[in-house]
Amino acid sequence: MPINLLYSPECLEYREAGHPDSPERVATIADFLGQKKAGRFLLPGKCKEEDLFLVHSEEMVERVRENSLPYDPSTPNIRGIYDYALLSCGAAEEACRLAVGGETSFSLLRPPGHHAGSKRAGGFCYFNSMAVAVKKIPGEKRIAILDIDGHHGNGTEEIFREKEGIIYVSVHQFPAFPGTGSVSFANCYNFPVYPGSSSSTYMKKFMNALSVIAGFSPDLLGISAGFDTHRTDPLLDLPLKDSDYYLMGREISSLNLDTFIVLEGGYNVKTVGNACYCFIKGIGKEKHGQETGKRI
Ligand SMILES: [Zn+2]
Repeated sequence: MPINLLYSPECLEYREAGHPDSPERVATIADFLGQKKAGRFLLPGKCKEEDLFLVHSEEMVERVRENSLPYDPSTPNIRGIYDYALLSCGAAEEACRLAVGGETSFSLLRPPGHHAGSKRAGGFCYFNSMAVAVKKIPGEKRIAILDIDGHHGNGTEEIFREKEGIIYVSVHQFPAFPGTGSVSFANCYNFPVYPGSSSSTYMKKFMNALSVIAGFSPDLLGISAGFDTHRTDPLLDLPLKDSDYYLMGREISSLNLDTFIVLEGGYNVKTVGNACYCFIKGIGKEKHGQETGKRI
């Protein structure tokens, strides 16, 4: 079965001059995946406002809705940003719902979410789409969140720290924005990678992160995927190349878990499309094996 790609061109409608989260970075991924016929495109809808309250404070939701966030150049008060953030959360919810039904699904929306905490926006993120999606899951499920954006997902970590039945596992550059994620504690497993490290160093940490997830035996895997780990990314100094993304996808797929993916960062518009495509190809590789009944 092809991967589901939740995408709406509505997310390209806003722009802040000079801001790295440009519409082009997501447009190029969607175009690239479309040309390569990498999956089945589905149009998502917005999440309900009440879903935001599963994660965020009323005051924070109101500030985003009313365009009255405190000054932070990374999360400017952009007209309509509330609705774009609702759409991003709605797509993550839909990807998660499809994954619970056994369909691997990828939400390709902006703004991203993993830096948004329960009471504050930050780092290009207004609402935490991964957290909203996970909190919407009905019943008791064991959930692992794997964060492979190049930055530490401080918002997701804060929201789920010390919560039962869930682990947060992140591989990211340290030191770097937001300055967190140097150590592991409780249910949060952090694998910091020094700037300038080799791709084999990164991949060793990534495999250690997957071992933690395999040991936890979750019912569902949510992935915050950012492609600012690419060696050409302008914001970070990490080493990955396209073939690494393919390997990462393949290793994730070999866990044989119901999986959904939410797009986070990735700021080089020339390389982000193929990086994302290689990742999806890796994920599809093992899925294809399952479908044809091959041993994995
Ligand atoms: Zn990032």
